[in-house]
Amino acid sequence: MMKPVVYVTRKIPDDVLQPYREVFNIRMWEKEDKPVPRDILLREAAKADGLLCLLTESVDKELLAAAKNLKVVANMAVGYDNIDVEAARSNGVVVTNTPDVLTETTADLTFALLMATARRVVEAADYIREGKWDYWSPYLLAGSDIHGKTIGIAGMGRIGEAVARRAKGFGMSIQYNNRSRKEKAEQELSAVYKNFTAMLQGSDFIVSLVPLTQKTAQMFDEEAFRNMKSSAIFVNVSRGGTVDEQALYDALTNGQIRAAGLDVFDQEPISPEHPLVGLQNVVCLPHIGSASEATRTKMLKLSLDNLKAVLDGEKAITPV
Ligand code: NAP
Repeated sequence: MMKPVVYVTRKIPDDVLQPYREVFNIRMWEKEDKPVPRDILLREAAKADGLLCLLTESVDKELLAAAKNLKVVANMAVGYDNIDVEAARSNGVVVTNTPDVLTETTADLTFALLMATARRVVEAADYIREGKWDYWSPYLLAGSDIHGKTIGIAGMGRIGEAVARRAKGFGMSIQYNNRSRKEKAEQELSAVYKNFTAMLQGSDFIVSLVPLTQKTAQMFDEEAFRNMKSSAIFVNVSRGGTVDEQALYDALTNGQIRAAGLDVFDQEPISPEHPLVGLQNVVCLPHIGSASEATRTKMLKLSLDNLKAVLDGEKAITPV
């Protein structure tokens, strides 16, 4: 029997891929570690039964129309705003993502970014590197405390809850906003449900972990930043599209909020000339939320297992 064709849109380690070569005919974009050119992706998708893609690929109506044999798209991410899920569904294509396996790793990074921003860690390391450390002084690079403060989590899902557990360990009070209440988190973490505005007004740290949808697009806009305390620190590890970046820039430069830690941006990658990169009160990271070696391997294996399940005629393990 012919093996199903799977197209993998980035070079992935051979030891991860090897076991799957027995069941798939694997084709892969392996020329460079950068996104596959769109024309090649369309050409390959047209021949594929399954696609393993990253958030750098847009799986839209055009691609789905070209991919006549496609049965499954396995996105190596928990967020799937790069995929037109409705169009996939109406074409009979199953879409899968990688929830759970990246939760704790992404929460670690979220907390690292929160702490780095509050305690000016990157700025302080640069201070030495730039030869500026001449003497110790009482308020040299003094930042904000974390312990005893209030964290407001927008999007108290898997990662949001994992961040809340870390916050509890730091002696923080926890507020959150979702469309629905999380009774268990309220009991276990003493988390308090607030409407969005009340959460912004009452938090010292505001962390965004909502998925990017039509509803959440630019939810952090001028009004949202106006509702935050002037001492507030904003941390975004969800998707850049949840933030109006101009409004964030204005809030950071006119003293409306104190600082921001950003792992994600509206248009990625960003260059060193991006206005937010130039601000001293901003820590920018290149979308590394889930980037530990172990977790990235788990995400790849889960994507491959999802492809195998669907192409074997079984249910996907983690369909969206
Ligand atoms: P999740 O478990 O689905 O959590 C998302 C939470 O957001 C849910 O609790 C949901 O609660 C809430 N939500 C959805 N729409 C909302 C809305 N309109 N207003 C308020 N709350 C809303 O997902 P997760 O696994 O925690 O991942 C969250 C997101 O993190 C992903 O979608 C992805 O974009 C991002 N992420 C980024 C990285 C990175 O590398 N930076 C890594 C992993 C994930 P309700 O349904 O009750 O509203």
